[in-house]
Amino acid sequence: MLSQKLHEALNAQINAELWSAYLYLSMSMDAEAKGLKGVANWFYVQFQEEQDHARIIMNYILSRDGKVALQPIEAVRTEWASPLEMFQDTLKHEKEVTAMINNLASIAAEDKDYASSNMLVWFVDEQVEEEESAREMITACEAVEGNKFGLYMLDKELAARTYTQASPLASTNA
Ligand code: MG
Repeated sequence: MLSQKLHEALNAQINAELWSAYLYLSMSMDAEAKGLKGVANWFYVQFQEEQDHARIIMNYILSRDGKVALQPIEAVRTEWASPLEMFQDTLKHEKEVTAMINNLASIAAEDKDYASSNMLVWFVDEQVEEEESAREMITACEAVEGNKFGLYMLDKELAARTYTQASPLASTNA
């Protein structure tokens, strides 16, 4: 059985992942409305990935005979001044998610809940990637700042990002 503390924290994490999905969907819509289809695509893929993160945790709670309790998703910002500002917000948000994942890992360790610790390893690694990719995008946006042709080329590049299902789901086909 999951401890009550870990169970509640995992349910809160589902909400955080779905809020992340909603945030990136909002960025995607704002970018698309401004004609930045590549940036919109990048954030739409991000939106899909965040839903996978929530699904992985939901599957895990159910596999441990726990109850998934979905909570309301708070409103998100709807407008950004530039892609740079979107990626800065992304990095700031992902750092907060990293802190939440680390907290989950601490609780699992305190509980000596080895199955939960093991499940969380994937998320710990994923957060390293999330922060790294946000930093890379900030660098790319800074490099083209004030250069419309540069932004046009960057947007074309981001149009190529494709979604692949997160690996913990690929094995269960959930
Ligand atoms: Mg996530």
